[in-house]
Amino acid sequence: MAEAEREQRPLPEVEQSVTSIPEDHEATCWGCGLRLVFASYSPIYKCGWCGAVTQSNSQTARKPDSIWFSHWRRLRDRLFVAVLVLFMLFVICGGVWAVYPVVFSVSKFCGVFHCTVAAVLAVCTVTSYCLASLKCAGAPTDIRWGSYPVVGKGDLENYTFCTYCNKPKPPRAHHCRSCKMCVVDMDHHCPFIGNCVGASNHQVFVVFLISVVISCSYVAGMTIYASYQIWPSIEFPDLASSSRHSMSSWKTVLEMITTVAGSAFFLSARGLVLVYLAFASSSVNAGIAVLLCQQLSYIYQGNTYLNRLSSAPNALQHGERGLQNIVRFFGCPYPVSRVVLRLRYSNAAKLQDDSGSKLL
Ligand SMILES: [Zn+2]
Ligand SMILES: [Zn+2]
Ligand SMILES: [Zn+2]
Repeated sequence: MAEAEREQRPLPEVEQSVTSIPEDHEATCWGCGLRLVFASYSPIYKCGWCGAVTQSNSQTARKPDSIWFSHWRRLRDRLFVAVLVLFMLFVICGGVWAVYPVVFSVSKFCGVFHCTVAAVLAVCTVTSYCLASLKCAGAPTDIRWGSYPVVGKGDLENYTFCTYCNKPKPPRAHHCRSCKMCVVDMDHHCPFIGNCVGASNHQVFVVFLISVVISCSYVAGMTIYASYQIWPSIEFPDLASSSRHSMSSWKTVLEMITTVAGSAFFLSARGLVLVYLAFASSSVNAGIAVLLCQQLSYIYQGNTYLNRLSSAPNALQHGERGLQNIVRFFGCPYPVSRVVLRLRYSNAAKLQDDSGSKLL
């Protein structure tokens, strides 16, 4: 009788809500097609067989970008590339034209030496720029996916699915909407080279930055020296007079700046080009030097700019940080790698000895 009463009695609200949720959650792995069963709901899950990561809420294919968006990105890239190429040509041609009379006036050897240095720097910068710009940033290799017998155990370890390309996306790869492809080890999309910076062209991109920093430092030094040589003679009448001691320091500086700026009106076209190149190369040098330091810092940490952005602040690094990352990045010859590794291990052994002696 008690059993029958319990069956007829309506269930409390909480009990009803619990019974309405299924005990198991099912999903299909996009990598191998296996049906996965979970005890609780999770928006992200990893297949125990192939290792592919599935995001249940964003697994459907995305709409392609509009034509206007694609045109705008292409136009922006071409504009940046055109401005940079014109600037490089101006610095090379304008710099040689403006500086060479001054260096040849010192001596013939001096002139030939500086022409050779300028040619080497120009070739290095232009070549590394062309390689970074034209080389494919790093397309993922085509792999077979979507069927259990074909995909082996662990074949898609930590792969995700790119809903733009409808293809597997390797770990540390990102989809670039400007290049319309996934890029392995993508650092960022650089509009100045009109290309992504990824696994295949990251090294040449950093070489380009180093080349720009050295070239701009050289151009700044040479143009400042040449400007000094051809600048019209300047006289400071007020400073030379007896009222000099009564003038405040800021008034003295202002007087000097005004006199120097006034004398610039008497500069020839060559002199104006020199002044412009000195300012422009110093400014570009400062900006690129900051970018280069940032890039070297990420390489040292074994990370990329995009991974750093996408990972949580306290997340583990993708690789071990250290000097060996920079050696590996530049593909240094074997003896250099050995020296770095030996230094690293000797430091680690020293630290271990120190901690061991402290414990004792
Ligand atoms: Zn799977
Ligand atoms: Zn993609
Ligand atoms: Zn890109």
